[in-house]
Amino acid sequence: MKGNRIYNFSAGPAMLPEEVLEQAAAEMLDYKGSGMSVMEMSHRSKVYQGIIDEAEKDLRELIGIPENYKVLFLQGGATLQFALIPLNFMFNGKADYINTGVWTKKAIKDAKLYGDVRVIASGEENGFKKIPDVKSLKFNEDSDYVYICDNNTIFGTKYKEYPETGDIPLFCDMSSCFLSEPIDVKKFGLIYAGAQKNVGPAGVTILIIRDDLLAKAPRQPLPAYFDYRLHVENGSMYNTPPTYGIYICGLVFKWLLKNGGLKAREKANEEKAKILYDYLDKSEFFKPFADKSCRSLMNVTFRTPSEELDAEFLEGAKKYRFTNLKGHRLTGGLRASIYNAMPKEGVEALVKYLKEFEEAHK
Ligand SMILES: *Cc1c(COP(=O)(O)O)cnc(C)c1O
Repeated sequence: MKGNRIYNFSAGPAMLPEEVLEQAAAEMLDYKGSGMSVMEMSHRSKVYQGIIDEAEKDLRELIGIPENYKVLFLQGGATLQFALIPLNFMFNGKADYINTGVWTKKAIKDAKLYGDVRVIASGEENGFKKIPDVKSLKFNEDSDYVYICDNNTIFGTKYKEYPETGDIPLFCDMSSCFLSEPIDVKKFGLIYAGAQKNVGPAGVTILIIRDDLLAKAPRQPLPAYFDYRLHVENGSMYNTPPTYGIYICGLVFKWLLKNGGLKAREKANEEKAKILYDYLDKSEFFKPFADKSCRSLMNVTFRTPSEELDAEFLEGAKKYRFTNLKGHRLTGGLRASIYNAMPKEGVEALVKYLKEFEEAHK
């Protein structure tokens, strides 16, 4: 880590690769001889068109997005998609949802405004420690789509295999694991992710949508911004897109491509998470929260034996300049978010502190 930078375990907005920040800094005042920063540029300019085109090209290469999928860079966060998805794709007014935590609950609540939402499985009974068994799921044949959230940022759970939904398209919120591992896009009708967890700054939401879904008209007329088709027809430029955020995402895509792509990222992320989980599993003091069968590699949730000790742990973390280790306000406890840009050294340093704290308190 350079200079005064610290290990930031925030769930989002989160750490970005230093190289990317340095490049953005170097290009801040004069982007490639344009005499202005990317922030100051017209989104209709040739220079900016080059930036967004290259970002899409690199993202397609990185993931291996098939030709029949469209890519969008929009605003509104993941939260706006909770409503836009049913508005655009509940053609018959019915969908199946799997409830795995706070983010799916919010998506379910919004979808219910527009149609018949069948919650076909829920982790609520076990406190969202576990992803429901995907093999035993029964889907409603008349559903327009099946909706899941891949990585549950707040509880620290992740699907290890996806439900097989047959002809019903599978829609997935990948906000907190997007680009942390290879993605088999063909399995999905729609994938989306807010950028600020693992990909870039807040303000950009990336969508990957299968084109046959876009070919069908929605059930009701939609205001312009709500209509994905309009955004696709206009190459994410129907209105002003989050220009600077897209540029940073583009730099992150290049950083990922240069560093071995998503396979290499998966390996590095598995390695980092293992260091932390191995310690938590053998600790007699700290308790990991998520069930072993479905642990997230991005958000590691755990706790000490009491709320007082959790608070003391957070206070003590300050002297090592670790930040944002507090669990989500809804769950309490502790959480270390270790996205792509968190170096292995950061995780090792955290484990050193965990050991020291355990020794001092057991
Ligand atoms: C953070 C998060 C959201 C909400 O994102 P916003 O950009 O704040 O709307 C939704 N889903 C998941 C999985 C998240 O991690």
